[in-house]
Amino acid sequence: MPKAHKKLAVPTSKRVIRDLRELAKRTSTERGAQRVAWGPVWREARAWFTETVTRDLGLPVVVDPAGNAWVTLPGESKDSVVFGSHLDSVPGGGWLDGVLGVTAGIEALRRHKAAGTPPVTLHLVDWADEEGARYGRSLTGSAASAGTLDAPKELAHLVDRNGVKLPDALRENGIELSRMHEAHGYFNELRAKAYLELHIEQGPVLEAMKKPVGVVLGTMGVERHMVRFKGQAVHAGATPIPLRQDAFLAAAEFALACRDIGLAFSGRTPKTRVVATCGVVKVEPGFVTAVSGLTDISLDLRALDAKVLGKMQQASEKASRAAAKRNRCTVEWTPLLSIEPRPFDPTLLAFCSEAVKEFAGSAPELPSGPLHDAAEMAGILPTVMVFAQSSPGISHTRLEDTPIVHLDKSIRAFLRLVERTVLHVAAGGF
Ligand SMILES: [Zn+2]
Repeated sequence: MPKAHKKLAVPTSKRVIRDLRELAKRTSTERGAQRVAWGPVWREARAWFTETVTRDLGLPVVVDPAGNAWVTLPGESKDSVVFGSHLDSVPGGGWLDGVLGVTAGIEALRRHKAAGTPPVTLHLVDWADEEGARYGRSLTGSAASAGTLDAPKELAHLVDRNGVKLPDALRENGIELSRMHEAHGYFNELRAKAYLELHIEQGPVLEAMKKPVGVVLGTMGVERHMVRFKGQAVHAGATPIPLRQDAFLAAAEFALACRDIGLAFSGRTPKTRVVATCGVVKVEPGFVTAVSGLTDISLDLRALDAKVLGKMQQASEKASRAAAKRNRCTVEWTPLLSIEPRPFDPTLLAFCSEAVKEFAGSAPELPSGPLHDAAEMAGILPTVMVFAQSSPGISHTRLEDTPIVHLDKSIRAFLRLVERTVLHVAAGGF
């Protein structure tokens, strides 16, 4: 199989970086990007998307029943490669999260179109409501396409801070909640053979390794629980420490144990890194003069290996019982979210590695801790992601950034990955 498509131009990032800047200008304030899904600024981002695609490609944008926006470049075969990401952002978000993958996708279409009819069909997608910033349900559009969204059950009751019901916000955008499941049928008709996504890392791992681009091994599984310690609320002055049943201290000991569990189960490489986080603590009754009688503490465990994730969960449960016992409390667990790890496709990982090496010299591998639309796609077809270094390693803030030299390498590697995948699908692969 040829390594590169002869008719295709050398991959460049120039137009992608131009598009990113233009879109940021049009959809941000001094506090950052404001492209919250289903709202006016998000629609403005989509207007920019439609204008750009019409101007540069002469192709229509089709919105499916879940609100995902699709651009199709027909090929000699209807078998297809799908790529994309999301234009929506959190309020006060950055200039790259999501939009990098969409703008790089536009460039992939431009590059293939300029070389004539591609051997297989190419679909670019802008997934609807990846962030879940307004209603709390992330990956809405991609889940609908993957057939894993139960819209009436999961979405019908959701209300935003201003009291606007999600079904009404959807209707404002021409989407009927009762028909969102039809997005799955739309997706099935695309004859998609592979899904590719370029995204910023959103964390500090590549920056710490001094690597501009990374190959993403998969999305980590998540086990999220609320852990409730029950003791007895008593007067702080009147009750000697040995006689207390301090629910907060039990939770505090538990939090420290979870940190140790996270460290103990982490391997030396990014691939084997796991995380454990206690992000919410609610202490009752919450007076300076009261010993806590009830403390709820959240636990979020993540790992790429399902077995490791299971062991972390067991170790945490054991630690919670020990912390409860030491503080003469009881403990009770309530599950909040359970997502299995989604390892990416080995063939696509090899293509990705090749492409990243070509432009960045080496191809470090890492899992994704955050979820992405690619996690939904990985459940139904071969999938892979490319990460561009985040520097500083933060996201969901206007401070989110990637140096242009690194962006350039990540975009060119992604374009090569698309090209390589197209050739593989054309040759009957997958
Ligand atoms: Zn994102």
